[in-house]
Amino acid sequence: MLIVHKYGGTSVGSLERIENVASRVAKAKSEGNDVVVVVSAMSGETNKLIAYANHFSATPSKREMDMLLSSGERVTAALLAIALKENGVDAIAMTGRQAGIKTDNAHMYARIESIDASAMQHEIALGKVVVVAGFQGITEDGSVSTLGRGGSDLSAVAIAGALNADACEIYSDVDGIYTTDPRIESKAKKMDFISYDEMLELASLGAKVLQNRSVELAKKLKVKIVAKSSFSDAEGTIIGEEEEGMEAVLVSGIALDRNQARVTIREVSDRPGIAAEIFTKLADEQINVDMIIQNASSAGMTNLGFTIPQSELAGAKAVIEAFDHDIGGMDLDDSVCKVSVVGVGMKSHAGVAATAFSALARENINIEMISTSEIKISMIIAEKYAELAVRTLHSVYNLDK
Ligand code: ADP
Ligand code: ASP
Ligand code: MG
Repeated sequence: MLIVHKYGGTSVGSLERIENVASRVAKAKSEGNDVVVVVSAMSGETNKLIAYANHFSATPSKREMDMLLSSGERVTAALLAIALKENGVDAIAMTGRQAGIKTDNAHMYARIESIDASAMQHEIALGKVVVVAGFQGITEDGSVSTLGRGGSDLSAVAIAGALNADACEIYSDVDGIYTTDPRIESKAKKMDFISYDEMLELASLGAKVLQNRSVELAKKLKVKIVAKSSFSDAEGTIIGEEEEGMEAVLVSGIALDRNQARVTIREVSDRPGIAAEIFTKLADEQINVDMIIQNASSAGMTNLGFTIPQSELAGAKAVIEAFDHDIGGMDLDDSVCKVSVVGVGMKSHAGVAATAFSALARENINIEMISTSEIKISMIIAEKYAELAVRTLHSVYNLDK
């Protein structure tokens, strides 16, 4: 079998833990498998590098950020290869470029366009364990690019797809996918299986256990993901295609996204095209606008409210300030969060949303914004209620039973 292992930041967070990863990889190899390992930076490393850059600039050049951030993963890849060799396992570390990962030019959010797997295949054929620095690739003009936060998951899935691997095992500090973040609700239950679609919603809505784009790609390439712990031998959760005849559960999980900020633009001139102009400029800056509310206008003015990732607040502020003469002012609030209820069974059941609203109302939690789709309900609330809201929703849908 050819297996891709991916180890996240916590799993490689110290030299002892890298040693632990080396012995897990050595074991998989000794069982007769070909193994390709994708690694993240040691935990805290990427944040540290971002803080370094922010010392000099609130909006540093994205190209230079990629040069900086890609270094964290290279350190781990090299250390793991060294540790493996010391354990008698022949290994070779590769950067994203050396592994043949080509991306578009969207620095810090780059998309993988293709993978030339020949260099990896060559080393695998020589019996080596290939250790790839996750989270990175190379643009057409030869600059280093990174794939967005949590992007090593995407590297792993893409490599598993390119190598036609039998499985992509993603190792973190939890032994699978739970009905909600087990750090917030200790009664959360581990699932044996979750469909790509449900996992994609959970991941997109803040369950950072898997990066959302990695799940999207796994679905497209039909890569079987297994979420496991690097600290135990527990079974893990399989993420795969929903099987015919499987009974769709009403609600499969609750997600929380704390990386949310709310922007309110006051007294926007109520003329056709103004919203388009503002949102086009935000999109040009790769700022992800999520929920949008426009208040009824009075005296030719309207208020425009929307949410964005907190990490993009500085960028959004700069964009909106350029509309100075078209707006009365803006308010920024980063003390909000988004809680979401996810389940494919919602498609065919009415009243799921009402249950959520009533449950939060009973706890006196005010819902500031709502958005729904066929298989999810998302609510913006004050961040101070985040954990209470997650536990309340987890219990009202009987997920702890
Ligand atoms: P890594 O650093 O290995 O990439 P992450 O920290 O990105 O790992 O993801 C693992 C974390 O995801 C867990 O520690 C857990 O707190 C969190 N998490 C959030 N939602 C869930 C969920 N539904 N099931 C399991 N873990 C979850
Ligand atoms: N090191 C990167 C991050 O912290 C990528 C990853 O860990 O997947 O976002
Ligand atoms: Mg992660």
